[in-house]
Amino acid sequence: MKSAVLMDARSIEIMESEIPECGDCEVLVRVKYCGICTLEQRLWAGDMKIYYPLVPGHEVSGVVEKVGKGVKSALKAGDRVALDMVYRCHQCYYCRTGQSNLCENQFTRGVTPLGGFSDYVVVAPERVFTIADNLSLEEAAFAEPVACCLRSLKKLNLTIAEDILIVGAGPMGLMHLQVALAMGVRVFISDVDDSRLATAAELGADFTINPVSVDAVEAVRAETAGRGVDACVVTSPAIPALEAAFKSIRKNGRINIYTAYMQEKPHMPIDMNRLHRSEVLVTGTEGRTEFDFQQAVRLLDFGRVNVKPLITRIAGFSDIEDGIKAAMSTETQRVLLGTEK
Ligand SMILES: [Zn+2]
Ligand SMILES: [Zn+2]
Repeated sequence: MKSAVLMDARSIEIMESEIPECGDCEVLVRVKYCGICTLEQRLWAGDMKIYYPLVPGHEVSGVVEKVGKGVKSALKAGDRVALDMVYRCHQCYYCRTGQSNLCENQFTRGVTPLGGFSDYVVVAPERVFTIADNLSLEEAAFAEPVACCLRSLKKLNLTIAEDILIVGAGPMGLMHLQVALAMGVRVFISDVDDSRLATAAELGADFTINPVSVDAVEAVRAETAGRGVDACVVTSPAIPALEAAFKSIRKNGRINIYTAYMQEKPHMPIDMNRLHRSEVLVTGTEGRTEFDFQQAVRLLDFGRVNVKPLITRIAGFSDIEDGIKAAMSTETQRVLLGTEK
């Protein structure tokens, strides 16, 4: 089987190896698609390091090839599935308290983190989620990022009929948009790119705002009786985007910093007195739990989140490097690795 192996920063090689053995309590899955997410882009660029050599890839869909004798679930060969690839130890404080997205051992040496850029993977059965017949395997590769959006919006404690501002209409912004709509809130979404905003409008955004042409804060206040939005999620790492979030939030509103910033220890562009007087809550979110993943698969199954417009390109093993570079461009939404391409 083929795998794309990261040997060092900006060095990825296609290697042949044996199909892994499927243990009694494991499931062997033929990988069909794997998203090239920000994590993979950063690992490739060397902005983030786990260790080398490493097979990246954590947004996987595929078909079950073999099920170990000891697996209790109804999984069988031929099942179409989405995989929750991020390792969790089930032993640390965070795993034991329902916060497995913060597992202390996710990337500990000796565990196999990620691994989706391969023809086959062997995983524990609890990481395998069967998908509905109407959902394509390309779409199923979005279960992981949709799960991250679910966690993000749950952390904001959204209540039906509230207003949310989503800053950034890239893939994460557009998935947040659809999950937020499914939660019954009104969505403002901002981006400097009109074509991304057009996609957001097609996917149901109530208000699209381009801060290059209009005053984003004014646009939000005009529709919220001058108060500002109840909640805001920042999916763009641009500092002006974060500033706009702080200016657009109402008193006692909630802001989630969903994105990671490239610069070392970025400072929050906020007046602390304003934070004190406005009671604005600021948080971040990282990853997702098994429960978030389960709900994401169901949202995709139900057709409540449409990820088809987010698939810009499918790269194969032969042009994986080019695919990663394309994924890093603002011209694309999501680029997938298609193992059979
Ligand atoms: Zn991801
Ligand atoms: Zn853990």
